[in-house]
Amino acid sequence: VLGMTNTCRIAVIKGDGIGKDVANAAMEVAQAATSRVGGCVLRFDETLAGAGYYAETGQDIEPGGEVRVGEADAIFLGAIGLPAIRHADGTEISPHLRLRDRYGLYAGVRPVKAYPNAPQRLADPRAANIDMVILRESTEGLFYSAAVHNRSQIIGDTEVRDTLRITRATTEKLHRFGFRLAEKRKERGKGGRLTCVDKANVFASMAFFRKIFDEIAPEFPSVQADHAYVDAQALNLIRNPWDYDVMVMENMFGDILSDLAGGLVGGMGMASCAEIGDETGLFQPAHGSAPDIMGQDKANPLAAILSAALMLEYLAEKTGNARFDEAAQLIDDAVQAGFEANALRPMEFGGDMGTRAVTTEILSRVTARI
Ligand code: ATP
Ligand code: MG
Repeated sequence: VLGMTNTCRIAVIKGDGIGKDVANAAMEVAQAATSRVGGCVLRFDETLAGAGYYAETGQDIEPGGEVRVGEADAIFLGAIGLPAIRHADGTEISPHLRLRDRYGLYAGVRPVKAYPNAPQRLADPRAANIDMVILRESTEGLFYSAAVHNRSQIIGDTEVRDTLRITRATTEKLHRFGFRLAEKRKERGKGGRLTCVDKANVFASMAFFRKIFDEIAPEFPSVQADHAYVDAQALNLIRNPWDYDVMVMENMFGDILSDLAGGLVGGMGMASCAEIGDETGLFQPAHGSAPDIMGQDKANPLAAILSAALMLEYLAEKTGNARFDEAAQLIDDAVQAGFEANALRPMEFGGDMGTRAVTTEILSRVTARI
């Protein structure tokens, strides 16, 4: 609808360590991008949470915060956790894992893209074309046993069992999400292939995962659908990662392969992440609070900034207002053009630019639309 303006409320949890700095940077950039585009507005609503908050108050999130963040249109998170501050039993402070559980954030989206002048681990020149997405199921699979509810079966000191759980309901949603993503990327000239990564030759649960994939594939005839066993896919991601587009997989496979894929294209400071459910989505850089570099203006804010772009894309779908998509594109273009011009030189990659300098460069490109 022409002339429509949507105001979206973003629940912001800055968290700990560099989480605060990169969340501030990302919100500043998101605000600048929406203002530049017009017709879409962001309102930020901060909720205190994390290890620092726990040390002060004995709670890991503000009273009522867990419910309040779910009422926003999206949640943005910096990073949570500090090694020195833990629960009495030694476990980490992790209110964000409860959010994933409470809001059923099943679709973990991890883009992996090579940028010019950013570190490149593969000598093959085709590695410059790496542009893929790992779609990791995030609420069941083998992690069903761990995370929030400890469902491992411990039989004295003689045996321990963890359960790999695949449900039809979640898997159907996940695969449809993957096909829609591949379709959208095809429209943007980025591929249009969805690879189901599994171990269907060994596990009944994985055969079920693949069967549902094959049932849904005909709904999306424009997407090239194929399968790969996870072990073979680990090899493919080293040998010819530039051939892949979107890959959908069970929780633990996604955990492992997203680190592998991320390693191909530079450091943690580039790894963006979205966790999306039926009602809301949580957007955060894939890295942690990095206490070793906190408070020194050394953190690379680009993972957080790219996560903010994912959030804007999500808001475009949620509201039906394409202006949010334009704002997301503006941020992606600024990162791409900034690297091309060698104007983005994060300290993480041995460059001379700290958190502030990288953010300023992106802000000026977003404002000037370059
Ligand atoms: P978590 O368990 O929360 O994932 P982690 O123990 O994996 O945390 P991170 O906080 O992600 O650790 O940090 C891992 C390493 O990567 C550290 O050396 C850290 O300094 C570096 N690092 C992480 N994020 C960034 C960033 N945005 N910019 C620069 N370096 C980073
Ligand atoms: Mg980590």
